[in-house]
Amino acid sequence: MGRIVLDQVKKRFGDVTVIPELDLEIEDGEFVVFVGPSGCGKSTLLRLIAGLEDVTDGKIVIDGTDATEVPPARRGLAMVFQSYALYPHMSVRKNIAFPLRMARLAPAEQKRRVEQAAEVLNLTDYLDRRPGQLSGGQRQRVAIGRAIVREPSAFLFDEPLSNLDAALRVGMRLEISELHKRLKTTMIYVTHDQVEAMTMADKIVVLQAGVIEQVGSPLELYRRPRNTFVAGFIGSPK
Ligand code: ADP
Ligand code: MG
Repeated sequence: MGRIVLDQVKKRFGDVTVIPELDLEIEDGEFVVFVGPSGCGKSTLLRLIAGLEDVTDGKIVIDGTDATEVPPARRGLAMVFQSYALYPHMSVRKNIAFPLRMARLAPAEQKRRVEQAAEVLNLTDYLDRRPGQLSGGQRQRVAIGRAIVREPSAFLFDEPLSNLDAALRVGMRLEISELHKRLKTTMIYVTHDQVEAMTMADKIVVLQAGVIEQVGSPLELYRRPRNTFVAGFIGSPK
């Protein structure tokens, strides 16, 4: 579970081509980072995988099934939004349970999953608080909890840390990496931050104008950048 293949994926908005044609394979359990400058198509790519946008052409295959035929809610993927997407009037418990309530899961199962996620995320003592009574890092963990309870085959993160301050970002980076080690679930993580890419990824996908410039491990990209764009972006010595 969690193997995602993009096969000649194209995306246009009206006359504007955002993704000319893109092929990519993501293995089960991989931590893949999409990195590139603002406007290069990272969010679009994530939204295509999530099913929040339709591909113009090509297909996305998730665990052997052509996802282009499957509605977003049934793709088995969970998107993690920035923490400001929490409901301020709901308790942490209700925020985390929200997708399960929508799916009408049995209350006992909802409770089990919420408490398990809270334990993984160190939120057990905060379940009855509201988001406004939490620190920035705790709020971001609640947003992640809301994805964990769905028990997805892959997590999709779109710049989840970009509204946190620098010190908190470092801590959350470590926490998300720890979470990946613990769950061993595929994670696709979008960022424009080279440091996040280099420190978190098993595999980095460097994008420029909707085109993959290079795919490789952080070390491969650092040692053997394919072109000056990758070298400049990753901060390689040459
Ligand atoms: P990134 O996340 O890398 O900053 P995006 O995927 O958000 O980039 O955007 C890539 C390009 O696609 C940008 O030029 C953006 O303006 C355009 N774009 C994104 N969504 C839409 C949309 N719904 N309609 C028209 N253009 C869009
Ligand atoms: Mg974006």
